[in-house]
Amino acid sequence: MSSVVRPRRWLAGPGHDCEPPPSTRRPCRLVLLGAPGVGKGTQAGLLSSRLGACQLSTGDVLRGAKRLAACDRSPAMELAIAAMSRGELVPDEVVLEIVRERVDCLRCHGGFLLDGFPRTIAQAEALDGMLAAEHLGLDAVVSYDLPIERIVARLSGRRVCPGCQAVYHVETQPPQTEGRCDRCGGPLVQRDDDRPDAVRVRMQTYEAATAPLLDYYVARALLVSVPADGTPEEILDRTLDALDTRAASRA
Ligand code: ADP
Repeated sequence: MSSVVRPRRWLAGPGHDCEPPPSTRRPCRLVLLGAPGVGKGTQAGLLSSRLGACQLSTGDVLRGAKRLAACDRSPAMELAIAAMSRGELVPDEVVLEIVRERVDCLRCHGGFLLDGFPRTIAQAEALDGMLAAEHLGLDAVVSYDLPIERIVARLSGRRVCPGCQAVYHVETQPPQTEGRCDRCGGPLVQRDDDRPDAVRVRMQTYEAATAPLLDYYVARALLVSVPADGTPEEILDRTLDALDTRAASRA
């Protein structure tokens, strides 16, 4: 079975209309943090469906750029694609441009979910500036925690469908037919940056550039830690419980 992937305005880019599904909850404005492969993307999709919030996954937008014909890619995009394939971070200016051109989504009445952004202190400070300009604040920053050995096992078995973006795992979430997508029948591939050499770089980059964000958000009393073991639905329930507990304690 594949994880749910729904159309996202932020993925489609500026100018694409979206209507968040009705939700009984108040708009939620969240950042999802966690090491590469911890399952943030899966949770972002599930949370977005459940909360009716607009989802921005910067990694998905950058992979979308990779699918463009070479003649349609700007020099900045080429640099970003090369950095991504090596497992390195894309320069802050490129990522901030992606977010800024979709800044309307921060005002979405369904709220928003940021998956993979911010990833550096400079990006977090830029986000604070964009939110302050809109008179908005974050409700919480969810940090998904999992031991590193488990993360590496998840990444090495991950397979994706380049056609419809469905995600599988060779052991824990295999497709019905080996190597073929259940949803669209396309061939499944391993992401460039899921190869062992790129995974090593991604983990080092996470420790050096992104882990400091945990202290950044602890200092702002926004961090909510959620253990990322179990099925996607179990982790979703744990996340919603943790958010409800936080909201109740602040009411
Ligand atoms: P993962 O969290 O599993 O690494 P993502 O899909 O979030 O996967 O990101 C894939 C790659 O895209 C990253 O390794 C990085 O090269 C690039 N990327 C995504 N978001 C950012 C960001 N906010 N800043 C810099 N690079 C980013």
